[in-house]
Amino acid sequence: MSNMCGIIGVAKFKGEIEVKEVIDMLKRLEYRGYDSWGVGFLNNNKLIVEKRVGKIGNVAYKQHTRAKAAIAHTRWATHGTVDEKNAHPHISFDGSLALVHNGIIENYTSIRDWLIEKGYKFYTDTDSEVSANLLHYLLNNYEDVTALRLFNKKVKGSFAIVALFRGKVYALVRGSPLLVGVNKEAIYFASDAKAFVDKVERVGYFNDEEGGIVDLNANTLIFLDLNKGIRTKKSLEPIKRELYDTYEPLNGYPHYTIKEIEEQPLKINEVFAYNEGMLEKLAEDVNNAYGVFFVASGSSYNAALASSYLFSKHAHKHVNVVDAAEFEYYKHFITSKTLVVAISQSGETADVIEAVKTAKKKGAKIVSMVNVYGSTLMRLSDYSILMHVGSEISVVATKSYIAQLLLLITLIFKTMALEFNGEVKKVANLMKEMVENKDFKESIRNLAKELKNKDHLYIIGRGVNYATALEGALKIKEISYIHAEAFAGGALKHGSIALIDNNTDVIVIASEDETFDEIISNALEVKARGARVIGISSKHHEVFDVYIAVPKVNILQPLINIVPLQLLAYYLALERGADPDKPRNLAKSVTVK
Ligand code: GLU
Repeated sequence: MSNMCGIIGVAKFKGEIEVKEVIDMLKRLEYRGYDSWGVGFLNNNKLIVEKRVGKIGNVAYKQHTRAKAAIAHTRWATHGTVDEKNAHPHISFDGSLALVHNGIIENYTSIRDWLIEKGYKFYTDTDSEVSANLLHYLLNNYEDVTALRLFNKKVKGSFAIVALFRGKVYALVRGSPLLVGVNKEAIYFASDAKAFVDKVERVGYFNDEEGGIVDLNANTLIFLDLNKGIRTKKSLEPIKRELYDTYEPLNGYPHYTIKEIEEQPLKINEVFAYNEGMLEKLAEDVNNAYGVFFVASGSSYNAALASSYLFSKHAHKHVNVVDAAEFEYYKHFITSKTLVVAISQSGETADVIEAVKTAKKKGAKIVSMVNVYGSTLMRLSDYSILMHVGSEISVVATKSYIAQLLLLITLIFKTMALEFNGEVKKVANLMKEMVENKDFKESIRNLAKELKNKDHLYIIGRGVNYATALEGALKIKEISYIHAEAFAGGALKHGSIALIDNNTDVIVIASEDETFDEIISNALEVKARGARVIGISSKHHEVFDVYIAVPKVNILQPLINIVPLQLLAYYLALERGADPDKPRNLAKSVTVK
């Protein structure tokens, strides 16, 4: 896993901010983690901390509580169970310093023991509390800049930290994202510009081992090189609001998951219109590279895998698709002539970022495909392709998966210098008919009702449909918590077919392409062993006990085929009483390794 959670800091030079406004900002970061949350703020020079388990809501204190400075956090636990004490902000043992932390302090046990010897006490199970006490100790014993330098020196691991202490706000960064935004009255810090995009005039990013200090009495903001322990300058650019996605309302939908599934047809057209030019550049780099690696996690990995079959079939080109968390072990192949295409919706996936850093050290060219402008991956890359699907709020990837598929398929044609329109409009219209068709959705809901008590589901496909099967299984696991597993149709007989009995349901993705006959044979094999076969296909076949009809399109068939599986996952979640938007244990952007 990579590392998540969202943090916020606000320091007002003029006037005060309502705590409610800080919580509203935090809500925009909820996609980064949501097992617990909290705020800490300076109210009449008193430091107040409120923490809650669960989704971000409102706290019980007075509606219009105001603060001179505030910090806030939405957590995705790495160290310590999810409970109120382990939620952030964490305070130093004497209650004078409060901080929020995104990342992992790897050597927290040795620092904790060292501090205990100095008389510090600990009340939580987290690594973050250790950073609160360490910072407290250092700021009490050294002047500010030295204290932050020593913090950076002592701590192993990753952090984006915002701390409140004695009328100052401290920011420290290494390996986790943090941005700073300013206007005439205030300084804002956040893990993602989305939190403050409508409030600031200028914005900048912290690089690794950089920090900042806001002095509320002197009305100053300084930046630091934490490694050298010196002041630095940071250029803050005017914020380009149009490039950031702000929070999108539900617009009458019950969940973001279904909203985002239903807006896929619209997005397909937009993604295509926006990106053609950049894809030509990438195609040239793909053609010139000695070795192309697609590096991604989760759904992005599945999209890359799907495209690899189509690269082979249409462009006769081999692309290496590597799970980002495994990339390190392939690094020996990487040279300065290698092209690494890093794919991540958020651009903050820690595993992908790590992989990119590894490849950069070897001198490889890095191109990222991201949905979030200004994200870490975008900044680490030679250039980026922006997906332009708008905010994806639901934790499960739907429209970003479709966008990645479309971009990668378009890229295939660009590498052959062929014009590609992929009949994108036609496919978008057909998909629109699917997601707006009440009977279609009803039939999938009924299927969900039948399947809701299953412990296991299997999905099979061949070729590009194997990637679709993997993505479908991932959706079902993520939001309904049913164990769904994908197999390549031909691989079943090599062991896994032993799982099949007359209580098993197998979903078969059968496109009318070169895989049709063979996947039908595989369906017959499982049926012969008692399985019930659910077919997703443009052509009915008698082996299907349940038939989900999808339109037949061309090379963009994987975009169509995933839709019924997305819907099935959504309805399974509803039938099982799970919240599809916020599955347990997950976070939208995995910012921890
Ligand atoms: N390691 C910290 C914790 O477990 C922060 C995790 C995060 O980045 O959300 O609380």
